[in-house]
Amino acid sequence: MPAFTDNYIWTMLSPDRQRATVVDPGDAAPVLAFCQKAGAALTDILITHHHPDHTAGIPLLKQTYPDARVWGPAGERIAGVETPLREGDTVAIGGLNRAFLVLDIPGHTAGHIAYYHPAMDWLFCGDTLFAAGCGRLFEGTPQQMFASLQKLGSLPSQTRVFCTHEYTHSNLRFAQEAEADNPAIHARAQTVASLRAQGACTLPSSIGLEWETNPFLRARDASHFAALRQQKDNF
Ligand code: ZN
Ligand code: FE
Repeated sequence: MPAFTDNYIWTMLSPDRQRATVVDPGDAAPVLAFCQKAGAALTDILITHHHPDHTAGIPLLKQTYPDARVWGPAGERIAGVETPLREGDTVAIGGLNRAFLVLDIPGHTAGHIAYYHPAMDWLFCGDTLFAAGCGRLFEGTPQQMFASLQKLGSLPSQTRVFCTHEYTHSNLRFAQEAEADNPAIHARAQTVASLRAQGACTLPSSIGLEWETNPFLRARDASHFAALRQQKDNF
């Protein structure tokens, strides 16, 4: 569900529609409205990193659903997070047979994590890998972010990428300049422009599509990545 100007709060409903899980609830209001309408109880809250647009909804959600479990990165101090997670940990949520695997992906923030569900081909990667882009380097080095992107890029190509922001259109404007001779980027820019003209969501992406159209994932090495990130910061 959309929140603020360009955030998404990804929501999973169990097959019996009794239990809901949300990722990065920066705002409680849309989550509460959704759960009420669906008649579902919120059982789990997954947090990728500490920024307020990903965490500010936690207190109100816990107030309404005191039994909801709050999972988040071990390397960051986040009010309300009860179960600290690091690479290799697993998270089992209601209604899903197998667990999420936790991946450490520092760069945007120092303790940023992702939730990867191999059986469902789902990746919740917060503000690290975006559709045709990547997060800004607030706390990490270009080397760290490049390694994090390559780690996500090593997941199977059919993995569906659920990032937290609707930045695809502006990312592709930069990508078209960074790789002017890449036809896949131009084709995606057209598709995305028409989706946005209808107010539609451009996500999820996939790891395969990102390998074709994301200049930051496609960077030759960390220094090439660093140069691209700097260009984008001033774009
Ligand atoms: Zn962020
Ligand atoms: Fe964000």
